[in-house]
Amino acid sequence: MMRRSAEELAKMRRAGQVVAEMHEVARAMAKPGVTTGAIDRAAREVLERRGARSNFLHYGHPPYPAVICTSRNAKIVHGIPGPEVLEEGDILSVDCGAIVEGYHGDAAFTMPIGQVSPEAMRLIEVTEAALWAGIGQMVVGNRLHEIGRAVQRVAEAAGFSVVREYVGHAIGTAMHEQPQVPNYWPGTPGPVLKAGMVFAVEPMVNAGGPETRVLDDGWTVVTADGSLSAHFEHTIAVTPDGPEVLTLP
Ligand code: MG
Ligand code: MG
Repeated sequence: MMRRSAEELAKMRRAGQVVAEMHEVARAMAKPGVTTGAIDRAAREVLERRGARSNFLHYGHPPYPAVICTSRNAKIVHGIPGPEVLEEGDILSVDCGAIVEGYHGDAAFTMPIGQVSPEAMRLIEVTEAALWAGIGQMVVGNRLHEIGRAVQRVAEAAGFSVVREYVGHAIGTAMHEQPQVPNYWPGTPGPVLKAGMVFAVEPMVNAGGPETRVLDDGWTVVTADGSLSAHFEHTIAVTPDGPEVLTLP
């Protein structure tokens, strides 16, 4: 597994700060009546202003057409921004990434649009708490899959389920590097965590069952049972002083 030098971590910190700024802009814009496409355009302006490149645009097959993902309500991840208008009572997940001097950042959050149901708010809060429980496991000497075990524990204790088909990942000079970081206990403890390792930890938590389905656009992942889903992600380095969250402003 790759271990990043102090110089590399400095670049990843800068990429992480661009992602944090994209989040800030998206969070301020996301209100009833606003389109997800408008939020994507604002995120593009942040990338341009910071001289950063997008790691989402043209990614994969079919080539991804935007610099952020916007996943509303039953959409779990990879929702494509466009003419879709946000409405009071929606929950919206925004996933953003950036490349600075060849190094990647990747982070996501879910937010309420106006007033949402108490159950929707609880899903958002539990998913964020699950992410932080996972981050808390990122200490030197611990095993990688303790992250997923902690995430799963928090999500399931609240009566929610954790998505299996999409997982976190190591990150550095590519957005998606090996190994994967599942949001559940995969049955083995996995490798020992060492200083300089960097992971994107990203629980996707469903209010209903864990099953997923991909829409005809080839990207948008939704809950198979139509239940709400939330997604939180940070890019985090393992350091001798504990986890350092590179995508926190
Ligand atoms: Mg992401
Ligand atoms: Mg990711």
